[in-house]
Order: sequence, then C-alpha cells, then structure tokens
Amino acid sequence: MSNPFIPYGRQMVDQEDIAEVVRVLQSDWLTTGPEVEKFETEVALFAGAGFGVAVSSGTAALHAAMYALGIGAGDEVIVSSMTFAATANCVVYQGGRPVFADVEPDTLLIDAASVERLITPKTKAIIAVDYAGQPCDYDQLRTLADQYGLALVADACHSLGGGYKGARVGSLADMTVFSFHPVKHITTGEGGMVVTDNEELVQRMRRFRNHGISHDHRQRAARGDWHYEMEDLGFNYRITDIQCALGRSQLKKLPHWLLRRQQIAERYDAGLGAVPGLGPLAVRNGLSHAYHLYVVLLENAHDRQKHFRVMREAGIGVNVHYYPVHLHKYYRETFGIGEGLCPVAEKAYERILSLPMHQGLGDEEAVRVIEALAGSSGD
Ligand SMILES: *Cc1c(COP(=O)(O)O)cnc(C)c1O
Repeated sequence: MSNPFIPYGRQMVDQEDIAEVVRVLQSDWLTTGPEVEKFETEVALFAGAGFGVAVSSGTAALHAAMYALGIGAGDEVIVSSMTFAATANCVVYQGGRPVFADVEPDTLLIDAASVERLITPKTKAIIAVDYAGQPCDYDQLRTLADQYGLALVADACHSLGGGYKGARVGSLADMTVFSFHPVKHITTGEGGMVVTDNEELVQRMRRFRNHGISHDHRQRAARGDWHYEMEDLGFNYRITDIQCALGRSQLKKLPHWLLRRQQIAERYDAGLGAVPGLGPLAVRNGLSHAYHLYVVLLENAHDRQKHFRVMREAGIGVNVHYYPVHLHKYYRETFGIGEGLCPVAEKAYERILSLPMHQGLGDEEAVRVIEALAGSSGD
C-alpha cells in the first residue's frame, strides 16, 4: 500500500480558470491589456489599498518598491532575517545595504526592538515580513517608522487575505508586496503586485516595470504621437494579460481558500497537542492569519533531521522555511556578516519544520500528516 505524496504547497486550477486563460488567448491582447488593470484594481480593493501595480514576480514587486522609494548607494534598509532571500536582494539590486533584524522567538516575526537598535542616519526603510501568513506588529512598526521618518514596506508574500486589528493586509504599510507564485495563495504562474495608497509611488513603479518609459500623453501629443521618453533606467517587469486573467479568476476563490487554510491549521493545532516535543508557532490576538505556511517548532534541534527523514519517507512534503538570509554565502562574503548577527533567528532555524499547507489538502491528508509526525517523535 503506497500513499500518494503530499506536497507542502500546491496550486488549485479549475476549468473556470482555464476558460479565462483561453478567452484571453483568443482576444486581441496577450500582454499589457485590459486584464492587467482589472487585476490591479481587484487585488487593491481586496487588500484595502487605493492602487495596485502588477509585475512579473513578487521579487520584481519588491525591486519596484525599493526603486520607487529611491533606495540607492549608501542607504540602509532593515529587513527580517527569517525570510526568503528576495526580501533582502531587492535592496542590493538598488545598491543599498540590507540590515538584518532579529525575530521574536515564538512567532518568528520581525522584532520591533531589534529594528529600533539598528536604525542609523542612513536607514531609509523597514521591510517587515508576515512570516507564515501572520501579520507583524504593525502598530509598533508604524510608530518606529513615523518617529524616525522611514518608509514601511510589508513583504506580504505569505499573508494575502490576512488582517490585523480589523485592517486588511495591504492597508497596514506604505507599500505592500504580494507574490502569485504557485505555492502562494493565488497564482498567475509567476507574478507579483505592490499595493499602496500613494499615487506618486504608483507612477514611478509603472514606469519602472516598463523600461523607465513614461506615458505622459500630453507630452507625447505635443511632440508627435510616435514619441516616447525613457526617463530613467527601468526593466521589463511586465506581467501578461494571460496571467492576469488567471489571477482574477483565482482571486474569486480566495476567501473560500483562506477559510480552508484556517480550518487545516485548526486541525493541526488540535492534533499537535498529542505529539510530544514540538508545538505550533504562537499566534497573536486580534489578527487574521492567512496561513501560507504551517510551521512547527521542535523543542530539540537534534530531532529535526529524524522528523524530516521519517516524514519524507512517509510521502509527506515537509520543508524548512527559512535558512536565515544573512547566513547565505553571498551575504556572508559580500557584506562580511554571518553567525551571531541574529541569534534568535539562527536558533529557531535549527528547530523549525513546515507541514503541508494548501487549500487542496484534504482532512484525511491532514490526519496522515499528524500521525506521521506523532510516529516520527517516538524513538
Ligand atoms: C515568494 C516570496 C517572495 C518572492 O516572490 P516570487 O514571486 O517568487 O518572486 C518574496 N518574499 C517572500 C517572503 C516570499 O515568500
């Protein structure tokens, strides 16, 4: 008897999604057409923000955000150390220096006290990461940002659909970044978006994703319709209409999918009570967790290898999110940093394990995950 493999994350694409993609393929526009704008408007509305700028990936969205804020050589941006490398890389793309903040030991969310200690006259922005889908303490981060005149950026690639004290993820920071990679809540294949209320930042990001070319129609009309102006060095970070049609169709299902993720988390929470030696991450009061990941924290680091091996052998796609960014070879060598910089994140890294979490995960599969975990905690 062999059980099918349970991946840690997986997209759900149905016939309705496929029909929407086909509809666009048969239309006049394949890339920047009406679907991009509609997708931007719909995601911004869903996330409680005024505007959206859709781009080719979450990484491109982070880069666009750093560009729009004017991050450059000599600037420092404080980022969480417990995240995917792209959160820090976007600062380096702009010639800035990422400064790694430590995390809270029970949630692995950026620690506001650590952030405050790292602020210098060179600091321009903070990038908070809603790790696993739990919104950070935005009240504290907003207070710090205002006090020191910093921009507050949310890397919300884990938390689309989450909430904090009644406000939506998307309305909590100056700019909020989403990813539509297939393991995230909704997918466009590859894709990302920045949402914000600031129209000036929107204009800069629209220009940036299109080679730095401006779309000032009056200027064009005055010089002749053929004329366009490349005002700054940008990139081709455009997303296609094909992708945005898929994203719009996926977005309709998101509220339902979020509930399913929360249900699975409840099952895991309940099941873990009977498993010795580990437990869930803490979840703060007054927020809505979007559960991109479900992470367990082991009491003993030396148990992780065994859990990982036994679970994988049982066909369960456990994973580890993340190796702290400052420990990667590139960051060690380029910035002369390494172990000891963020001790809480470094210790937590040794003890974390991500269980499968996605909207298509069935109840029986969740039971299988818990049983395998209970089995792997015996000797
Ligand atoms: C997925 C992810 C990104 C990058 O998104 P891509 O769409 O894969 O480029 C950035 N930050 C975090 C925290 C992520 O999980």
